[in-house]
Amino acid sequence: MKVTIAGGVHGNELIGIYIVKKLMRENFWLKDIAIDYLLANPKAIKECRRYIDYDLNRSFSQEALSKDSHIYEYERAKVLKKRLEDTDFLIDLHTTTANMGITIVLSKDDPLSANIAKILAREYENVKILRWFGTEEGNFINSCVKSSITIEVGPVCQGVLDASIFFNTLKVLKRALDILRKDEKMDEKVVCYDIYDYRDFPREDEELAGMIHPEFLGRDYQLLHHGDPIFLRFDEEEIFYEGEPSYPVFINEAAYYEKKIAFCLAKKNML
Ligand SMILES: [Zn+2]
Repeated sequence: MKVTIAGGVHGNELIGIYIVKKLMRENFWLKDIAIDYLLANPKAIKECRRYIDYDLNRSFSQEALSKDSHIYEYERAKVLKKRLEDTDFLIDLHTTTANMGITIVLSKDDPLSANIAKILAREYENVKILRWFGTEEGNFINSCVKSSITIEVGPVCQGVLDASIFFNTLKVLKRALDILRKDEKMDEKVVCYDIYDYRDFPREDEELAGMIHPEFLGRDYQLLHHGDPIFLRFDEEEIFYEGEPSYPVFINEAAYYEKKIAFCLAKKNML
């Protein structure tokens, strides 16, 4: 079995980058598994930027992969698609500025990926499973392989390391490899969260007109009710949530300001 461990799909998410560098340097290997270490966006890593021209993790669409372009990430996506051809399982390491602990993101309905996520969620209290089967997920790097998990950890600033989060992530990553190696299976159901919608910040003529409400900040995975405060405008007016009870995630994620996402809404389910 060949497993690819990817860091630096986003060049300013240092934890994944330095975990990959550490394991490469230590020549970390496991019996019965071939590990390919991948620093996915070397130019962006060098500049400590999320991307150079376009988000690499939105550059794997059929359209992006099929045409010549001057977009660095589109060209890089073609190289990575080839490199991942014989990968059986991809573990993609990311960080978030949101207070999401260790989140295993599943971007497609695949039993092997789900099985690993479930075992991790059962064993570690701070591990949650988030399914993101949206319209954009086909453009993720995960679309190149049949089975994969994304390990999304936070809160940590872009361009910054955090030792506790670093070693917790490493522990979960090594356990994921162990599960793959031993082909462990789990039948019982565990809680998972399904993203179904998102909210943008208040804006006036495209310009930001407010921020995440201080009472809402950091409350990822805590049930949000109709009428709870979510935004505080620059003129100090509060804005309250309208909608069905939901679990918010990616609250105030720095990289999503440009995507016009202030937070995502998820439903709790069993997987
Ligand atoms: Zn990322």
